[in-house]
Amino acid sequence: MTNYSNLTIKSVRELFTNGELSARELVAHYQEEIKKKDPELNAYREVFDDAFKAAEEADKKIKEGETPRALEGIPFAIKDNILIKGKMAGASSKILEGYTASYDATVIEKLREEGAIFLGRTNMDEFAMGSSTENSAYGATKNPYDVSRVPGGSSGGSAVAVAGDMALAALGSDTGGSIRQPAAFCGVVGLKPTYGAVSRSGLIAMASSLDQVGPITKSVRDAEIIFDVIRGRDDLDSTSLEAKLPSGRSASKTIGVPREYFSLKEMGKEGLEEGIAKKFQESIEFFKAKGFEIKEVSLPSVDYALAAYYIVMPAEVSANLSRFDGIRYGSRAEGKNLLEVYAKTREKGFGPEARRRVILGAYVLSAGYYDAYYARAQKVRYMIRKDFENEFKNVDLLLTPTTPHPAFKIGEKVSDPLSMYLEDIYTVPINLAGVPAISVPFGTIEKEGKNLPVGIQLIAPWHEERRLFEAGKILEEK
Ligand code: GLN
Repeated sequence: MTNYSNLTIKSVRELFTNGELSARELVAHYQEEIKKKDPELNAYREVFDDAFKAAEEADKKIKEGETPRALEGIPFAIKDNILIKGKMAGASSKILEGYTASYDATVIEKLREEGAIFLGRTNMDEFAMGSSTENSAYGATKNPYDVSRVPGGSSGGSAVAVAGDMALAALGSDTGGSIRQPAAFCGVVGLKPTYGAVSRSGLIAMASSLDQVGPITKSVRDAEIIFDVIRGRDDLDSTSLEAKLPSGRSASKTIGVPREYFSLKEMGKEGLEEGIAKKFQESIEFFKAKGFEIKEVSLPSVDYALAAYYIVMPAEVSANLSRFDGIRYGSRAEGKNLLEVYAKTREKGFGPEARRRVILGAYVLSAGYYDAYYARAQKVRYMIRKDFENEFKNVDLLLTPTTPHPAFKIGEKVSDPLSMYLEDIYTVPINLAGVPAISVPFGTIEKEGKNLPVGIQLIAPWHEERRLFEAGKILEEK
């Protein structure tokens, strides 16, 4: 009997080649689980009907003795903002209702070339704006560890699909934490690659200078396998880069703990919940015991990271969302003239959070305010980048909690945008700097009789994802 909840890409490959499991059986299993659990969890926006066909093709190849490709027969869940040719894509927004993708995102093309199967598309905060998946126009997704709590966001559907055994792996996108935070809340692994490491072509843009696509998986090794498939320079994304990653051990020795938010002496302050602070301390001790040197480091500018993020991000959002005018994509409202068509389409199509950010973004870019807000935020961003650059001269990796709290209650923060924004405090600086980071599950803490997962975040210098995988694998041994 296959124990489905312990499967990883590696173990599935072995089962496939030994003939103990077929891709068809695996797809059937996930579809069965989706039928059972998803009416309550709401991880999927749509389950595709052609996964079986793809599974049969994979099985045929494996039977014929062809060496299986890296992701042969591996069933994926895909966030609703990543285009799959011929499938609907909506970024969980009403404004894209009825839109069908006319091409594959580069990441999808790459997964396909390695034999991956697509089970369906997953729920998210509208246009990836949020930390709870409550901003979806299609209802909140629920956390499988406690259905009264959020799964995090914006890639909440993808994290729940993996955590709830409704897919073996998933793709999400991360602009300020949207892969790592839901991964932490749901007890799975989430990787935000170096900015530019993975092509953004075919990702519905939120804030283009911050967005990255990455994997959500059951193990660090699985995240590594997927990263190696999707990464690389792409002519369709001029910000993408071909980085030469070291293949062997990078032998990280020193880990920095940034004093500003995670001071060893002052833990428990700055909104960091005590239970998480304890787990974080435990992770530090764990690395020490494994022979790592722990150093206290300083990133003085990260104090301003959230403020800078909530200027730079909405500025880019307001520009990126201007293309949704009712003419080119998705749904359209009728009006007396063109201007009215635009206005009515956008009024009906965008939810409150999307509208809030478009307005904020237009404001910080407007004549007279540009210098005071946008230009200044860009300077702060540069300083944050410098802080990371400086500290990475002294340490190989940085360590932080992924989130200040475990999963919060559905409805708890949705009417208070500021407290929702504060949830991103540990993840946002990484996107501003462009460095890679991974959230690795590190046990659970008990709340109201439920065990809620905790995520620990490892951060590496630009294009040093290998260090994350290496240290992440050590951390997950625990
Ligand atoms: N929660 C953050 C926000 O609301 C990050 C979102 C993201 O990474 N897509 O902007």
